[in-house]
Amino acid sequence: MKQSLVNLLPPATIAAILAFWAFAPAAWVESPWALPVMGLATLAFVQLLELVFERHAGWRINARELATDVFYVAFSYTVIGFASDALVNSPLREAKEAWGIATPWLADLPFLVQVMAVLFTFELGQYWMHRAMHNWTPLWLTHAPHHHVTQLNAMKGYIGNPIELFLISLGVTALLDVDLNALFASISVGSAIAAYAHANVRADPPIWYGYFFTTIRNHSLHHTALSYEDTRCNYGNSVIFWDRVFGTYKEGESEVVGQDDRKRLSIKEQWLFPLRPWLEKRGAAEA
Ligand SMILES: [Zn+2]
Ligand SMILES: [Zn+2]
Repeated sequence: MKQSLVNLLPPATIAAILAFWAFAPAAWVESPWALPVMGLATLAFVQLLELVFERHAGWRINARELATDVFYVAFSYTVIGFASDALVNSPLREAKEAWGIATPWLADLPFLVQVMAVLFTFELGQYWMHRAMHNWTPLWLTHAPHHHVTQLNAMKGYIGNPIELFLISLGVTALLDVDLNALFASISVGSAIAAYAHANVRADPPIWYGYFFTTIRNHSLHHTALSYEDTRCNYGNSVIFWDRVFGTYKEGESEVVGQDDRKRLSIKEQWLFPLRPWLEKRGAAEA
């Protein structure tokens, strides 16, 4: 397959997802399975692409990485999804009712405009949450495990300390009145872009795509082990456009990813990471 066609894989995937939701029958959209099936199928597809169009041999998936990645995807789809729905989205929907917050005009806009409105609104919150995580130690301790990954793969966006995964799932989009198809499309598109932005796939999408959306080039730079300053840019999870607006965009990519001495953390180490300063202090006192 010609490289120019491989480069079109991310935008073609997004177009296919948009078309699916634009034309999906109501019965499918109302099924509780449609959204998770679309999300998981996209992840599986991008993971398979890694086997065909590998970007870096050093990032090649192996049994241990795959098992960890699958664990985190399952954890995010169940525990984290349940927690953010129960603790944030449901209360927000109740507040929306109680305070009479309504944006019915939004549901009258064209499908694509609705999808992008939800995606860009959600991602604006993600941008500032992620940027705060890099600038305030208590939040950094929850986000650092994500930066300790030593290779990038389709599901690596799901790797992190549970506190971080919960915080990064939060958003105010439950307050918006949009078509259900458009809401689901924005969620599917956002996670597809984030999957490609972490994937070991040799696809460098066209300039217009990379102007608005995060690519593996820009996100691998955010994960670089070679320069501390370069990790403090390209915060957009799937919408890099906000980095351009707020002056944190940086061009470039990195093959060498990881944190500090590039030691891979076990799941236990990832979960205990925020307690590290305290554990180290206790260890030093006992020594
Ligand atoms: Zn980060
Ligand atoms: Zn990442």
